[in-house]
Amino acid sequence: MSSKKKSKRSGNKGNHAPRPRGFAGVRPDKGLGQNFLIDEEVIGTIVRESGVSKDTLVIEIGPGTGALTLPLAEAAGRVIAVELDENMIEGLRIKTFGMDNVEIIHQDILETDIKSLATEAMAEHGLTELRIIGNLPYYITTPIIMKLLESDTGAKSITVMMQKEVADRIAAEPGTRASGAITYPVHYHARVSEIAFVPRECFYPAPKVDSAVLRLDLRNEPAVCVKDEELMMRCIKAGFSMRRKTLLNSLTALGYQNKEILSKALDAAGIDPSRRAETLSLEEFAKLSDSLQEA
Ligand code: SAM
Repeated sequence: MSSKKKSKRSGNKGNHAPRPRGFAGVRPDKGLGQNFLIDEEVIGTIVRESGVSKDTLVIEIGPGTGALTLPLAEAAGRVIAVELDENMIEGLRIKTFGMDNVEIIHQDILETDIKSLATEAMAEHGLTELRIIGNLPYYITTPIIMKLLESDTGAKSITVMMQKEVADRIAAEPGTRASGAITYPVHYHARVSEIAFVPRECFYPAPKVDSAVLRLDLRNEPAVCVKDEELMMRCIKAGFSMRRKTLLNSLTALGYQNKEILSKALDAAGIDPSRRAETLSLEEFAKLSDSLQEA
């Protein structure tokens, strides 16, 4: 999973909507997913629904021009905002000048050691919980979410804006037609709720798609018991790599030359080999993974 490094500035050609106040000198970079939130109501909903209090350390992903950073800093104990675009950094530092509970870090979130950063800041400032919040750069939505889930940050919740289509996929019940490979790891680690639908007009420049904000409340224990979590995730990935094919065929992506092993494992897990990945519940993927491990 590689992050998209800084692209050439693409400017604002083709978007003739008047620039809202506060955007002087800022040319949104499409290559970095820069669609800035300009709707105060949506900003208020995100801050309120994310569960932030004065005991909270917020790690904000992609602060941009600071639309969320400032109200988050008012509600939280401390905000560490991680922004990749160097051109945003000075503006952010000016906007947050004098606010001693805001720290701006110029870094790629995919290369940030969130756990160490949070542990140190929480100890130093006497904060008791971590919440991760962001209006995500959409080109790396999945890698960011997977990193946050897999890196054991200790966060209580993750509240993130993303493309509505992706939010629907993530919020879908595992085992339904709307589910996809990303649905399963998210539900394994968290309880999912949609806290806002956000029409495209709420951004500058307006993107071509609508958005939604999801809140993922991290579970203390994963949703199902499985012997080898990594193997289960590989089964899910393989199953959805060819989602129109039967499980017996799509699971060959795991690298088994001989379908006999797969067939036996599916049988032992009580799963019909002609089913498709999208019909399996999380429990069934766990059973399949456990029987494959024993095969
Ligand atoms: N939070 C702002 C808002 O709501 O208006 C900006 C959101 S904008 C959709 C996404 C932000 O993420 C941009 O400021 C962009 O520069 C930043 N970004 C893009 N890739 C990033 C990365 N790998 N790490 C950190 N920030 C990134």
